[in-house]
Amino acid sequence: MQPIEWKVEARDGEARTGTLITRRSLIETPVFMPVGTQGTVKGVRFEWLEEELDARIILGNTYHLWIRPGTDVIGRLGGLHRFISWERSILTDSGGFQVFSLSDLRRIGEEGVEFRSHLDGTKLFMSPEISMEIQAALGSEIVMAFDECPPGDLGRDEIERSLELTARWAKRSKQRFEELQDSGADRAFVEPGSNGAAVSGRQALFGIIQGGGFTDLRSKSLERTVGIGFDGYAIGGLSVGEEKSVMYEVLESVTPRMPEDRPRYLMGVGTPEDLIEAVSRGVDMFDCVLPTRNGRTGGVFTSRGDLNIRNAGYRDDETPLDEDCGCSVCARYSRAYLRHLYTAKEMLGPILISHHNLSFYLGLMKKVRAAIRAGEFEPFRKTFAERRAEAAN
Ligand SMILES: [Zn+2]
Repeated sequence: MQPIEWKVEARDGEARTGTLITRRSLIETPVFMPVGTQGTVKGVRFEWLEEELDARIILGNTYHLWIRPGTDVIGRLGGLHRFISWERSILTDSGGFQVFSLSDLRRIGEEGVEFRSHLDGTKLFMSPEISMEIQAALGSEIVMAFDECPPGDLGRDEIERSLELTARWAKRSKQRFEELQDSGADRAFVEPGSNGAAVSGRQALFGIIQGGGFTDLRSKSLERTVGIGFDGYAIGGLSVGEEKSVMYEVLESVTPRMPEDRPRYLMGVGTPEDLIEAVSRGVDMFDCVLPTRNGRTGGVFTSRGDLNIRNAGYRDDETPLDEDCGCSVCARYSRAYLRHLYTAKEMLGPILISHHNLSFYLGLMKKVRAAIRAGEFEPFRKTFAERRAEAAN
């Protein structure tokens, strides 16, 4: 029995829709995973994520949870699901991205990375083995291999050196992961078949393909990673400041050669346009902080382009954020009221707009799935782009 069950149900060009079943939930793909950095999708109650937004999987950040409140605390309290009160699936990242982007004074060696906590400067050490141990203690459904996340502006030689290190770390990640699964270290262990599906109750492990903007290095990383063998494959190191065309080119070169029978996850991407373009190139899973991060500063995603609710133009605007949105925020509140909440610095403003933005992202993925199923993804993609661009002009 596999830890996840993955089935492609319909294809339209390279785009595909299917179901991913973990030990805790059935997830329709392409899927957008809201980011729950510190055990919370910022400003959004889990009740809303379940009932109204119907999110089936969220992302948790290993680095943040390890540093605060700490894996020991979460472990004592029965694992991450029980601690945060979320029974559906969780994907945890490896902690690598935060180790490399948040902390100062990093020292990267073959063993792992030495760095200082961004909270109090404590000296810490992270390795593939430690990342696997933390993710087992958190008890997520999908565990990510520990990779090096080099900055986007590195040269070819550096990127090549980095992807070789990532490949060696991927091997060590898998080895430690298997040991932990065999010893039952996963705190949130779920009985096989408890959600009615033929999945094993173990965690799943995804490998990460690196290689920057160099398509030949991406191929090399792909071969190395697939050679080790994972339950799913992620594409990392994109959306780090490169041109959009570079991201699309990398996707076009990588996704057709990724295993057909495993889910494909594009990490940390992106705007609504990025999601559609990546789906058209065969990607199945996404996560991004944009809906909640932009929501906190008044940035709104709509089917007719993006807007900032703080603009004076919305002072007397009685219309909803997005007339085509069926969310409870759009059903009830006007742009004028939401603008007022921001200008008065009321906490309800960011809460409501984060909610709407997540509804927009999750709703978009639902439309994408329907379009692929109907064999109408291309016209959908075209209309979507036109309507979003119309408002921008
Ligand atoms: Zn809405």
